[in-house]
Amino acid sequence: MRKYVIIGAQGSGKGTQSRLLVRDLDLVHISVGDIFRWHVQHHTKLGAQVRRTMSAGELVGDDLVESIVRERLAQHDWNYGFVIDGFPRNARQAEFFLESYDIDGVIHLDLPDSEVRRRVLARRLCARCGMDYNLIAHRPEVEGRCDVCGGELVSREDDTEEALAERLRLYHEKTDPIIELFGRKEFVFTIDARSDVHTIQQEIRTRLGLPDYTRP
Ligand code: AMP
Repeated sequence: MRKYVIIGAQGSGKGTQSRLLVRDLDLVHISVGDIFRWHVQHHTKLGAQVRRTMSAGELVGDDLVESIVRERLAQHDWNYGFVIDGFPRNARQAEFFLESYDIDGVIHLDLPDSEVRRRVLARRLCARCGMDYNLIAHRPEVEGRCDVCGGELVSREDDTEEALAERLRLYHEKTDPIIELFGRKEFVFTIDARSDVHTIQQEIRTRLGLPDYTRP
């Protein structure tokens, strides 16, 4: 059983790296942000509760986040383990998590703020199938259209200059300190997130003592 947390600022590649890791190792990727986005897209009651907070780049309340995480992990569909992304984001969430689950490693993707801004403002998402694009590193073949399903490419509602400034501020204020908290109790592997996707994935595998990565 392997249980990892992946931490990093917006646009540091948490989602991409988690997906590559879970694909080969049969782990489950749990993204709290994706769970919330699903609820917003499907107009659920929870979606209505979190929509404004998310689009302003603020953090959803801890009680709600903790209950979502607890419920998701209670599904026990993670026989071989999980990679949790976007959680914990502050000291209280980290304490809740450490009390309830034993973690094998924390992957910390480190990216300077200037690069975060550059990447996030270039990020696009297919409105139909959810595929990620980036106008710098991963452009679609036809401008504004998804290569896979032809759906329209849009920006995430919280990928605006204003919301990003708030998300970065909160990241440094609330999330930076928990890396130290984890550092005392668990293994934290800080990885330079400026390299390319494949180099970072191999670095994660090496640092965590996992089988080598084979590029698709
Ligand atoms: P992400 O995709 O991880 O950037 O998350 C998108 C948004 O969901 C965040 O800006 C928050 O509004 C909310 N969110 C996700 N994870 C958490 C968390 N652990 N604590 C509070 N809010 C969260």
